[in-house]
Amino acid sequence: METAKKQRTTRINPRWCSPNDANKDYKVMELLRPAVLGCCDSLGVHWSGAWSHSVRPGSRPEASHGWRVHRHIHRGTPESHLCPHAACQEQLATLSHVMLSCPVSQAVWHWFAATWTAVTQQPAPALHADLLLADDRRGPWQPAAGLDSLWQRLRLLVITQLWDAYCRARSRPEQPTQPAHIAARVISAARIQMRRDWLLVGSDIRLRAGVLSHWLGGRQPTMTAEAFQSRWCHEEVLCSRPAEVTEPPHMHWTAAHPVPLPR
Ligand SMILES: [Zn+2]
Repeated sequence: METAKKQRTTRINPRWCSPNDANKDYKVMELLRPAVLGCCDSLGVHWSGAWSHSVRPGSRPEASHGWRVHRHIHRGTPESHLCPHAACQEQLATLSHVMLSCPVSQAVWHWFAATWTAVTQQPAPALHADLLLADDRRGPWQPAAGLDSLWQRLRLLVITQLWDAYCRARSRPEQPTQPAHIAARVISAARIQMRRDWLLVGSDIRLRAGVLSHWLGGRQPTMTAEAFQSRWCHEEVLCSRPAEVTEPPHMHWTAAHPVPLPR
């Protein structure tokens, strides 16, 4: 009985993480944490449990990020470790390459840095893995006071979309991924987050869920208008609050503003 149960489940092991461990490349576990953290939260999967998360084949494995990572890191042949983008001949698809040094990723990060400067008037952040991917703040650059929430959200959106683009490029190599596509998806995802956050300003979802509100534990689901303003409306470059809470927020972040999409 116990043996049969073991055969049906797959336990993810962080030691399987990368073909590049010998080169002291970043490990999957560290790099993917910010990329999947939000999704893990939404699925109710605590990150610390993601690697030990048992996945039963046939039980909606697509719902498990651990399973996605597991599938990715268990590629069978040396060729399947190569970056799928046309500009990257014979380039190993290490996480550092996929997330940062790939020409596609570089164009997206440059656009991200220019957008950050346009929003905050700060100098552009250094395009280094420790800051952008691992959020290591020991360097000289820091997001300005009060902008940490915006920094984290935008940075994680870029990481998530880069990873998503890489996975799509692997599964559909006939459809080349352009930096503009990834940046447009970042904007779209940010606008969705803004709308969802604004819904929290106008109502308490616990009162609309149709169940007893004390069944819904966890974080406080409401947000103040001031918190929304602080998170998304800095200088009203990306977004601004409407006059009435029942109206949607005014979106200013587009493909042309404040920084055109990368080419
Ligand atoms: Zn590449």
